[in-house]
Amino acid sequence: MADVEKVIIIGSGPAGWTAAIYAARANLEPLVFEGAITEENRLAGTLPLGQLSLTTEVENYPGFPAGNLETYLDDAFEKSQRVMMAPHGKEGVSGPELVELMRQQAKNFGTRVVTQDVVDIDVDGHPFKLTTDDGKTHEAQAVIVATGARANYLGLPSEEKFKNRGVSACAVCDGALPRFRNHAVAVVGGGDSAVEEADYLSKFASTVYMIHRRDELRASKIMAQRAIDNPKIEILWSTTLAEVLGNDTDGVTGVRLESTKGEADVEKEVTGVFLAIGHTPNTAFLADKLEMTAKKYIKWTTPGRTYTSVEGIFAAGDVADDYYRQAVTAAGTGCMAALDAERWLAAKGFH
Ligand code: NAP
Repeated sequence: MADVEKVIIIGSGPAGWTAAIYAARANLEPLVFEGAITEENRLAGTLPLGQLSLTTEVENYPGFPAGNLETYLDDAFEKSQRVMMAPHGKEGVSGPELVELMRQQAKNFGTRVVTQDVVDIDVDGHPFKLTTDDGKTHEAQAVIVATGARANYLGLPSEEKFKNRGVSACAVCDGALPRFRNHAVAVVGGGDSAVEEADYLSKFASTVYMIHRRDELRASKIMAQRAIDNPKIEILWSTTLAEVLGNDTDGVTGVRLESTKGEADVEKEVTGVFLAIGHTPNTAFLADKLEMTAKKYIKWTTPGRTYTSVEGIFAAGDVADDYYRQAVTAAGTGCMAALDAERWLAAKGFH
């Protein structure tokens, strides 16, 4: 077995990379397990770099305004005062770009990155023992869990049957496939994700049906208006998805919809069904090891700290946050977790 690590970080979204940047700069020589690249992880939405890598433009991460960054900087500074050279004509930043830049930033400070999943943690003794998917174990004085959350499915047998053949939870990953181009598709959900997915799909599809179980969207006002104003999006209010229709040759061919107001079922022809109905935290490998909330998110045990129920294990990002769930809040708690870990290691004399 290798030497005992000072800190191991599990996860590779904004929380994980920010924790790594801070831990590396504090000479903790962090080792990041960023997750494995497998078909199983692809289908579950748990590939390395997390949810941010599955989005398009990021308009709300501070420091990356949409528009021409070069022009903004030219307007604000004399050339002689300019340190940052924004790429010419760059229009803001995309999710995949942003998280890739965070990963590079962590690596620039010496972070080591392993493209594997952690499948188990032994928290009974100290140092903690982590097992990876290749069966190897790694020891760490402190652990930061930043494994995020993944998209939910409804759990319909027909949905499972057509996964990868028209059913998806990621428009950005799958939306441009030929099967969706110039055909009608359906998006289930009424939150910001559903609007984002519908808006993105409207670039390819002929019509996007948004299937929402209530008569009011949960999405923020600006996003809700975007859906309402998009002529290609048709919101089917007070409606739930009862069945995905299809066959072995064509995959998804339609949906059967139920009304929540007692009206008759309707069928719509679609070639795709995109689920955008919230998320589940990636905490299965921690079952019974750490205290969880009722929704299986890791419980932060001290207000304003990233402490978990096990001393020396810290949690950051969406894996412990079912409320804010933003890239910037995940990055913020990632920073907090690294500082908490550093102070804990110092107090215990491990660093
Ligand atoms: P969300 O806000 O929890 O919305 C989930 C949606 O799915 C709700 O409309 C909900 O319906 C519906 N839903 C849940 N379970 C369902 C079921 N079993 N059957 C039918 N419908 C179901 O989740 P989200 O849209 O993924 O957003 C999560 C967080 O990320 C939010 O804080 C959001 O603001 C943020 N986000 C922001 C952006 C952005 O700013 N660009 C983009 C994406 C996400 P009800 O409304 O009836 O509960």
